[in-house]
Amino acid sequence: MHLDNLEEAVDLILNSKHTTGYTGAGVSVESGIPPFRGKDGLWNKYDPGILDLDYFYSNPLDSWQVIKEIFYEFFGSAKPNKAHYALAELEKLDLVKAVITQNIDNLHQEAGSKTVYEFHGNSRTLICQKCNKKYEVSEQLIETLPPRCEKCDTVLKPDFIFFGEMIPEYAYKKSIEETKKADVFLIIGSTGEVVPASMIPSMARENGVKIIEVNPNTSLFTYSVTDVFLQGNAIEVMLELTEAIKSKI
Ligand code: ZN
Repeated sequence: MHLDNLEEAVDLILNSKHTTGYTGAGVSVESGIPPFRGKDGLWNKYDPGILDLDYFYSNPLDSWQVIKEIFYEFFGSAKPNKAHYALAELEKLDLVKAVITQNIDNLHQEAGSKTVYEFHGNSRTLICQKCNKKYEVSEQLIETLPPRCEKCDTVLKPDFIFFGEMIPEYAYKKSIEETKKADVFLIIGSTGEVVPASMIPSMARENGVKIIEVNPNTSLFTYSVTDVFLQGNAIEVMLELTEAIKSKI
C-alpha cells in the first residue's frame, strides 16, 4: 500500500503541539465489533428501539436480553487491534495528547491510551439511575436479567447513551476543549453521520485545526473539513503512519 499524501500527514503530526485523535466504529470493526449503521450494521438485525430509554424502563427484561446479546456476548470477547495500539503508541511518544471516541467498547483504554473522552459512554460499566452506584460488568452480574442495583433494587442501565439521552457532560466538555487546544485532529474510522459527535471536527476546523482523515472511503468529513485524506482501513493506514513517524524521530 502506498499513500501519496502520507508525508504531509507525518509532517503535520510532527510539527504539531497538540494532536487529538477522534475515532469511530471503523477503528473497531477489525476487532470484530460490527458497526451499528450501514449494510452489515447491527441495526439491520436488531430493532434500535431496544435502546430507547422509555422502552428500556417499561420493558427492562426484553431490552436487556438484546443488550446482553449485542454488547456482552458479541462485543465482550473483542480485543484491541493494531490501529488501537498504534494510536496508544503515538500517545506514549507524546505525539497524540487525547482521544475523543464515539466507541463504547473500551478498546482504546485496553490498548494503553490514557486520555480518552468517551463521547457516547462505555459499555463496561453499568449504572443505577436512581442512586448512581456504578458496577463493572461481569458475567455474574448479568447472569439473571435484568440486573438490579444491590442497594436500591433499581434496574441497572449500561453506562453508554441510549437514544434521546444527552452526551455525558464530562466527555462533551473535554471534547469542546480539545477543539480549542488542538492544532491537528486525526480522524480515524468515523464517517461523520452521528450528530452531535460529527460537529466536533467541524468546530475544530473553525478554530483553525488541521484535519487528517483515515477512512476506507470518502465520508461526510472528506470534502467539508479534511485537509489530508489517507484512504485505507484503520489498521493499514495507522501502521504505515506510525512507522513513517517513528523513522523521522
Ligand atoms: Zn441503586
